[in-house]
Amino acid sequence: SPFDPAYHRVLLKLSGEVFGGGKLGVDPDVVNSIAKQIAEVVRAGVQVAVVVGGGNFFRGAELQQRGMERNRADYMGMLGTVMNCLALQDFLEKLGVETRVQTAITMGQVAEPYIPRKADRHLAKGRVVIFGAGSGMPYFSTDTVAAQRALEIGAEALLMGKQGVDGVYDSDPKKNPDAVKFDQLSYDDFLARGLRVADATAISLARDNALPIVIFGLAEGNIARVVRGEKLGTVVAP
Ligand code: UDP
Repeated sequence: SPFDPAYHRVLLKLSGEVFGGGKLGVDPDVVNSIAKQIAEVVRAGVQVAVVVGGGNFFRGAELQQRGMERNRADYMGMLGTVMNCLALQDFLEKLGVETRVQTAITMGQVAEPYIPRKADRHLAKGRVVIFGAGSGMPYFSTDTVAAQRALEIGAEALLMGKQGVDGVYDSDPKKNPDAVKFDQLSYDDFLARGLRVADATAISLARDNALPIVIFGLAEGNIARVVRGEKLGTVVAP
């Protein structure tokens, strides 16, 4: 079928949960299926950058609650994201998609450093650029980095692909069977309701720069559907 994308350049945020299939570590089958979805839209000519989370390894705030010093715990969290980046890179390359990993913490043996102008060039050449190690700064989240990178590389939308939830609800759909899904939400509504599915700092950065966010479930074919502009999940926009 003809592929008529609604976006030319997107920033895809994949949380760590996606990589582990809900467990600790990386599930290669899950990463392979996500790589196939990304390859599909790249072949259709869409430029794709990815920000990768790391909650399948470590979350700094959780380690802090169990006695670790917060900054060090956050650095562990950031390093975890890089393993997810390499797994995604591997499966994309196996599918014939060119990739570059760029990290906010320099580690020359495994990745390029984060150089925005280089990232832009890679994307223009059809390479998938995978951003790892968050912002390189403790106390931030990869959601916030996703909004920042989306703005810096001029992505038209921030696509937040989720595992186990298919959009934004007025209460936790796993706990409340009557939870209602939003098709569309303003940034201010999202923040006023204290919703947790994305980070408040990310939402406010998107609001201040009118960056649209699509929060959706990663069921097979969904990345392509969102990129085609199909109404899926929840759109957070002005
Ligand atoms: N992190 C950080 N600074 C950043 C991004 C991430 O310190 O700019 C740390 C933080 O400890 C976080 C962990 O890395 O808990 C994993 O990232 P995140 O929780 O955003 O991953 P996700 O929830 O998307 O899996």
